[in-house]
Amino acid sequence: MPAFMEPFRIKAVEPIPFPVPLERRRALADAGYNLFRVPARAITIDLLTDSGTSAMSAAQWSALLSGDESYAGAASFERFEAVVRELTGYDHVIPVHQGRAAERILLGSLLQPGDVSVSNTHFDTTRASVEAAGASALDLPVDLPAAAPAPFGGDISLPQLQNLLQGPDGSSVRCVILTITNNAGGGQPVSLDNIAATRELCDRHGVTLLLDASRFAENAYLVTERDPGHAGRSPRDVAEMTFALADGCWASLKKDGIGNIGGMIGLRDAGLARRCREQLIAVEGFPTYGGLAGRDLDALARGLQEVTDPDYLRYRAQSARWFGAQLLDAGIPILEPTGCHAVYVDAAVLLPHVPPHRLPATALANELYLAGAVRVSELGTLVFGRRSPHGGPDIPAPRELVRFALPRRVYTKSHLEYVVEVAASVAAKAADVPGYRIVEQAATLRHFTAVLTPDASGDDEETSSEPLG
Ligand SMILES: *Cc1c(COP(=O)(O)O)cnc(C)c1O
Repeated sequence: MPAFMEPFRIKAVEPIPFPVPLERRRALADAGYNLFRVPARAITIDLLTDSGTSAMSAAQWSALLSGDESYAGAASFERFEAVVRELTGYDHVIPVHQGRAAERILLGSLLQPGDVSVSNTHFDTTRASVEAAGASALDLPVDLPAAAPAPFGGDISLPQLQNLLQGPDGSSVRCVILTITNNAGGGQPVSLDNIAATRELCDRHGVTLLLDASRFAENAYLVTERDPGHAGRSPRDVAEMTFALADGCWASLKKDGIGNIGGMIGLRDAGLARRCREQLIAVEGFPTYGGLAGRDLDALARGLQEVTDPDYLRYRAQSARWFGAQLLDAGIPILEPTGCHAVYVDAAVLLPHVPPHRLPATALANELYLAGAVRVSELGTLVFGRRSPHGGPDIPAPRELVRFALPRRVYTKSHLEYVVEVAASVAAKAADVPGYRIVEQAATLRHFTAVLTPDASGDDEETSSEPLG
């Protein structure tokens, strides 16, 4: 196991809560057994998401004070624009308050009803914006060999993309979106070769190539680590090469912007950029602040420069790999290879006695909370399952995953050691972990608000539940 340590020291600290077992049981019951409803003051280690949860550097905090809060033409915007232009090579830089606003504005300006958007995998908010534009979203992830871990599991399937573009429906394809890294597919990277080959196909068929670049730096680092052809390059070089291959991008800067809020659009096409700015003014704000404060733009400009630091990225990949290996040793089945932003655990393997409609991934997540106030997110049937049109048990999600997300620069190795201990204690009594039943659920995005109750019976009778309304 490669040794690693945090390439930073700590200047500002924040105490973390240590709720006792009775408080944890009460907090979870009061939350309707849904970790989204548990208050942060009842969490010891919060691995719910890596989005907006990063620690800013001293340089970012000091950049906040230089924020120019002028409504129009703020100097903060000029600094942000210069940093994004230099990184991406795109002339048109449009700030927004977070990634989904970028998607709504850019995809709404690009797509017409009946158009098709093709991707390695559309992130859930991306898919929602494609569909809101009246277009359809088609995922063509690469086929992965079941036997060996693939270095570039985030790639788009080139044969399937080529068939689609050459086939009868080829002319309705308006854009190809490469999500780097591929979050929905386990945070796996997309190779530079795959991006270059996609570029060629897009050129041949007159299709726009866009990047959902929320984790562009982590993708670039994993390319330098896994592709011998780029082993000597810096992550910054690979990031620049990646942006050079596309017509434009957007990003949630709550990830590799190392900010607590923010997003952006970058484009080469002046006409498309003009349409985006018109939309921006209607829904976000003037084009030189786009829903953010001037100080946010300064902190993000600094974050975008820090994030490609090779020492930081090496630490990030090593800590995920180390954490995954420790979990494996503790008897927790993980997905391999690990990427950078999270470790994914297979709850179906750990809890074979809990059937999909009794929510094994939720069961594991809740048990981790009860055992040590650790919060992770469920990516199983509660999030991705669909209600059966005929009543009865839900149509299960393809996999019952639990994601241990890693906020940037927030937790140390000893925090992760604690999580491993908690997970080991859960694995040791896995056979006793109860499943759950949904008592109340909303019609869409039910995982955020659903109310659940423990159910050890494994009984196949599905009691009907009322939508939350
Ligand atoms: C987080 C994320 C988004 C959405 O961004 P928000 O800032 O949460 O609105 C879009 N795409 C990917 C790949 C993401 O990870």
